[in-house]
Amino acid sequence: MTSALAVPAVFDPALSLDAVGPIPVNEPLLDGNERAYLLDCIDTGWISSEGPFVERFEAAMAAKVNRRYGVGVANGSAALDIAVAALRLGPGDEVILPSFTIISCAAAIVRAGATPVVVDCDPLTLNSTADHYAAAITPRTKALMVVHIYGLPVDMDPILALAERHGLAVIEDAAEMHGQTYKGRPCGSFGHLSTFSFYPNKLVTSGEGGMVMTDDPELAERCRSLRNLCFNNRQRFIHDEIGWNYRLTNMQAALGLAQVEKLEQTVARKREIGRVYTDLLADLPGVQIPLTGTNYAEGLYWVFSLILDDSMEMDAKAAMAVLADHKIGTRPFFWPMNEQPVFRKMGLFEGVSCPVAERIARRGFYVPSGVGVTEIQMRRVAAVVRQVLK
Ligand SMILES: *Cc1c(COP(=O)(O)O)cnc(C)c1O
Repeated sequence: MTSALAVPAVFDPALSLDAVGPIPVNEPLLDGNERAYLLDCIDTGWISSEGPFVERFEAAMAAKVNRRYGVGVANGSAALDIAVAALRLGPGDEVILPSFTIISCAAAIVRAGATPVVVDCDPLTLNSTADHYAAAITPRTKALMVVHIYGLPVDMDPILALAERHGLAVIEDAAEMHGQTYKGRPCGSFGHLSTFSFYPNKLVTSGEGGMVMTDDPELAERCRSLRNLCFNNRQRFIHDEIGWNYRLTNMQAALGLAQVEKLEQTVARKREIGRVYTDLLADLPGVQIPLTGTNYAEGLYWVFSLILDDSMEMDAKAAMAVLADHKIGTRPFFWPMNEQPVFRKMGLFEGVSCPVAERIARRGFYVPSGVGVTEIQMRRVAAVVRQVLK
């Protein structure tokens, strides 16, 4: 698929493809202790989940997000599976979550045999609000799954109050929010359990990896058991429950620890990326860029998203295809849970509509905004975006 849209001659040659080269959507930055810690794993022979970096990484994350316990797991999706299972959510229980999120959230609920109930989101913050959650509460509701989307945290206080009023558990998915705060409190510090992902496009990466965080010693113990096949403490190979092998390796934790050590710099870099793109694109008509902040948080810019107004002829898919022709990597937005074929086949979300999520899924995408992106790359991205969307 090639577009007819050639970059015109007036285009600054310093920003041409020849000058800047292809721009990947994400490139991690492994410039701290990553190498030293990984070599330590090899030199000591500690490569499995039994190695010492696992506990060090868990403690470092717990300190960062003000939690008593961190339980390192294989990935962020596994962390959600464990969080749902730890709360013993199951058949007959409804869990409310945003429609605009990754499938891992709903999948964890469905796998537990519980019922996911999805709600729409705010068109500016892209997050679901207390009003969305409140409208979906029924006598069967047992938990609220809160997911911070793309860079701005969810407005937590009204949701925590709502949960308290109805006696509901709260799971906070903070997979995109390492280093972000809500009213000065760390994301990942809210709810009975919170979860993180350390996929390479997250602010802390361990290649693959995740963590469940809590302040409750019993829940922490239960999460540890669930990640390790529920071997019981009395006699190994006798099980009272089914868990998973969702363990994190020492090598992953080594990488993760080195990444946590420089989280402040990563956050500062992400905000700088957000500022540069905002300066370059704020005046572009017909395109919604991320809010720089709200009264409870500054933008973190996990990704820098563009949402094309309905008035624009191109939708996200078309715009992304043209950017791909220019060797600029992009990713589409999440696709709403209420429109997922797999869930519709299961008879879920019948008659449910989430107009905001459905619109932004078709109109939104994000541009290269990993910590490795350079100033000249951002200037090329902005120049091409302006050309393409004019
Ligand atoms: C990345 C992400 C996950 C899943 O993490 P994996 O490590 O890729 O399994 C879960 N929730 C949200 C909101 C995410 O962005």
